[in-house]
Amino acid sequence: MVDLPNLVERPPLRCFAFRGAALGAVCGDRAVWMGPPRGALESSFFCDRHRPKDALPIADDAVFRRVTLDVEVRFAAASLIETTARVDALARLEAAVHAAGGRLSVGRVTSIVGRLRAQAGPGQGTADKGKG
Ligand SMILES: [Zn+2]
Repeated sequence: MVDLPNLVERPPLRCFAFRGAALGAVCGDRAVWMGPPRGALESSFFCDRHRPKDALPIADDAVFRRVTLDVEVRFAAASLIETTARVDALARLEAAVHAAGGRLSVGRVTSIVGRLRAQAGPGQGTADKGKG
């Protein structure tokens, strides 16, 4: 048996059914079934639509892979009031991540008030470069 770490959080599991030949082209809908185990690292999960005949309900201790993305997301705030701007941006991002089947963990939130500089000419960059 492979020694695996114990995770304390499991985002909703999603369907492994392939939808095409492209890498990552999977169904991705919420999974409620798991395929028969074929080894410690070969769990597979399925939605109702792609459920194999021999599928079982997902076990509480099923092995899964959790992906964590460290990203930077920028919104133009809906308010110049800092607290309102942050709460709104977090709510929008959380809703989007939830709709995509993930869970959001926020480490740092910053905001800045400024104005867009005049656009640079062709080949001279854009106002999005540099600070802020
Ligand atoms: Zn599916």
